[in-house]
Amino acid sequence: LTQAADKRPGFSVQSPKGTHDILPAQARRWRGVERVVQAVMQRFGYEEIRTPIFEEAALFIRGVGEHTDVVSKEIYTFGGKGADHVNFALRPECTAGVVRAYVQHRLYREPAPQKFWYMGPMFRYERPQAGRQRQFHQLGVECFASDNPLSDAEAILMAVDLLAELGLTTLTVALNSVGCPNCRPAYRLQLVRYLEEQQASLCATCLTRKDTNPLRVLDCKAPGCQPIVACAPALHDFWCVGCRAHLEAVMDYLDSVAVAYRLDPRLVRGLDYYTGPVFEIASDALGAQNTLVGGGRYDQLVEQLGGPPTPAFGWGLGMERLLLALDGAEAGEASLFGAVLVNPGESERRGFQLVSWLRRAGRDAEVVTGRKWDKLFKHADRLGARFAFVLGEHEVETSRFGIKNLSNREQSDLPFSHEVVMAWLNGITDA
Ligand SMILES: [Zn+2]
Ligand SMILES: [Zn+2]
Repeated sequence: LTQAADKRPGFSVQSPKGTHDILPAQARRWRGVERVVQAVMQRFGYEEIRTPIFEEAALFIRGVGEHTDVVSKEIYTFGGKGADHVNFALRPECTAGVVRAYVQHRLYREPAPQKFWYMGPMFRYERPQAGRQRQFHQLGVECFASDNPLSDAEAILMAVDLLAELGLTTLTVALNSVGCPNCRPAYRLQLVRYLEEQQASLCATCLTRKDTNPLRVLDCKAPGCQPIVACAPALHDFWCVGCRAHLEAVMDYLDSVAVAYRLDPRLVRGLDYYTGPVFEIASDALGAQNTLVGGGRYDQLVEQLGGPPTPAFGWGLGMERLLLALDGAEAGEASLFGAVLVNPGESERRGFQLVSWLRRAGRDAEVVTGRKWDKLFKHADRLGARFAFVLGEHEVETSRFGIKNLSNREQSDLPFSHEVVMAWLNGITDA
């Protein structure tokens, strides 16, 4: 690091492009969402797991797929220091890390299935645009060691319930199967053959994908590719008996709990590791249809990353997108139990004492100092306080303080004593 940057005239530091600060008002909304997430995960028996935000780069090359956009274009890598010659990468997604932890700690020895959820920052080098950041946050779940379609349906249901509980009700669930090692190679062969016939009209991206990751051509949004995609061989014509039966069982489970879905034969996922059922959940909360959740089954990844053969199912959800979709659905109001209003001087000392009593009794409270009472009350309102405790110079002299209920404007006063304050707190019913 050089000092040069500090010597630039008019130097001022801004957050790096594609990152954002979550200021207190926003953080409040995040916490509101996180509380619902924790409650829903607990109900479904998913346990939280926290993995490092950087891993060996090889993990993602192997785990996510060398030819995915995520690894080929968007991954942030950096070298180790000193004797550490390994290349590291900021995690672009979390599934690979969770699988690594599952294998490293031999969690496959624990009773199956093992169900995890995680939430945290991920990093991808992308052109920043609305809802797309270089540091973004993802919530995700992974269920290991169950090949039962019940686990697929349970995880999909959990995503639907979570979004509904957050206030998003107009949801569309799209479902497909990308096939398994028994049936996908034949499909892939047919698809590549077809794409080769059409290659004069393919967009530049699809021309590359044709050779590296041909299934991704199916979700190309380029207008020129649309007619080609529409006439491409369909995956479901190639499903083996197992793939068909598994998907049908998932559908049956979803029917049994009234989760509506539609089959989308063009639905594929951006990452290489999926096998079998894949799904997406979109919401129209942002006007246009907007995919919030995506995931599916990945029965090969654990073995690819050095573990025993272990079936798995998971999904991920972009938190920034979710919060955009929730804008308006919930307000995330500021709230405070008490604002202790004091004048400068001795009154402040008593105010400090009172606010500490309140805090030790488990109530959130704040001292606000000033000379003008109308300004002090305005400040209390801005803090969203339920009660204003008035402790000015006059109150200090008489050893009493006033209490104003800011929601119904009722007033009373009490002697300045710890016991009295505790007794008053006990009498408050939190409606
Ligand atoms: Zn199959
Ligand atoms: Zn294309």
